[in-house]
Amino acid sequence: MLAIFDERQYLHRPLTRLAGGVLRPSPEQPERIASLLAGLEAAAIAVQPPRDHSLDAIAAMHDAGYLDFLRTGFEAWRALPGTGPELRSSVHPSRHMGRLPNDLLGRAGFYQADASCVLVEGTWEAARASANTALDAMMRVVVGDHAAYALCRPPGHHAYRDQAGGFCYLNNTAIAANWAASQGRRVAVIDVDVHHGNGTQALFYARPDVLTVSVHGDPAWLYPYYAGYADETGEGPGEGFNLNLPVALKSGSEAYLAAVAKGCEAVRHFSPDVLVVALGLDASRDDPFACMDVDEAGFRGMGEILGALSRPTLIVQEGGYPSPTLGALLTSFVSGFMARQRR
Ligand SMILES: [Zn+2]
Repeated sequence: MLAIFDERQYLHRPLTRLAGGVLRPSPEQPERIASLLAGLEAAAIAVQPPRDHSLDAIAAMHDAGYLDFLRTGFEAWRALPGTGPELRSSVHPSRHMGRLPNDLLGRAGFYQADASCVLVEGTWEAARASANTALDAMMRVVVGDHAAYALCRPPGHHAYRDQAGGFCYLNNTAIAANWAASQGRRVAVIDVDVHHGNGTQALFYARPDVLTVSVHGDPAWLYPYYAGYADETGEGPGEGFNLNLPVALKSGSEAYLAAVAKGCEAVRHFSPDVLVVALGLDASRDDPFACMDVDEAGFRGMGEILGALSRPTLIVQEGGYPSPTLGALLTSFVSGFMARQRR
C-alpha cells in the first residue's frame, strides 16, 4: 500500500469550536497529522506527496459560489473592521427561509452548516491540498495500484455541494469517487467514521453508479442529527443505492463490526471496480468524542473485513481526534486490511 500526503494541509489551524455552549479548542488540529504519519510508519507504509491537479474534479462536486466563498471569504472578512481570527456565522438558513444574500456574514451562514467549520487564514489552501491528495491517490488506484491511503485533513465527508460542516469543507471522498466514476469505473463508498457521511450521501443520493454505505452512531443522538437514518435509501435512479447502518451509541467492537460486515455484503452485491473507504477512527473508545466503544483489535478486524473484499481500494482519512492511541488505530486498521486483501 502506498500513502499520499501534502504538507500544505498543516496550514489550516482552526482555533475553536462551540461545545456545551462554550468556545473550546478545536480538536481538528494539524497535530493529528503527526499521529497518523506515525501510524503509517509503524505499518511500514511509505508516504509521498501528490501531484498537483486542476480544480476540475473539485468543481465537479462543488458549487462555484461556494468555492469562491472558501477561496476569498477569509480575506474579505479580515478587511472588515472589528473582525476576529475566525470567520463564523451565527445566522443560518432554516426550513422557513433560504435565500443567498450578498453580505459576507450572511453568505457565511448560508455556506456553513454549523459553528465547527470556521474559515481561518490557511483554510482554502489546506482544504484544496486535502482534496487534491484524495484525487491523486485515486488516480493511482485506477491505473493499477491495488490500494492507496490518502492522509486527508481537513476531513471531507460532512461537506455538501455548497455547504461546509463538521470540520469539513471539500468532500475529499466524494471528489475521488466521482472522478473514478467519470473514468467509467463502478464505485462503492463505505464510510466507517462514527458520524454519518451526510455530505457524501447527498452528493450521490440520486445516482445509481456510485453506491454509498455508511456505518455510524445513531443520528437520533449524534451529529449530524438531521440525516443518517436507515430509511434514507436514495431517490429517483439512485433509489436502493444508499445504505445507512446506524449503531447504538457506546456499542463495542462486536456490534460495530457486525454493521461493517453488513455494509460489505451490500458492496459485494454491487460488485464495484473500485472501493473507497472513508476511514474515520473516531468510533474508538479512546476518541475524545467518546461516542462508541471500539477497541484497537476492533480496528484491525474492521481492516480485515474491508480488505477481504479484495477490490482496488482507496482509503481516505476522515475523522479521529487527538488521543494517545490515534496512530496505533491507523496501524491496526491498515495492517488488518493488508493482511486480507488479495490481488
Ligand atoms: Zn467523525
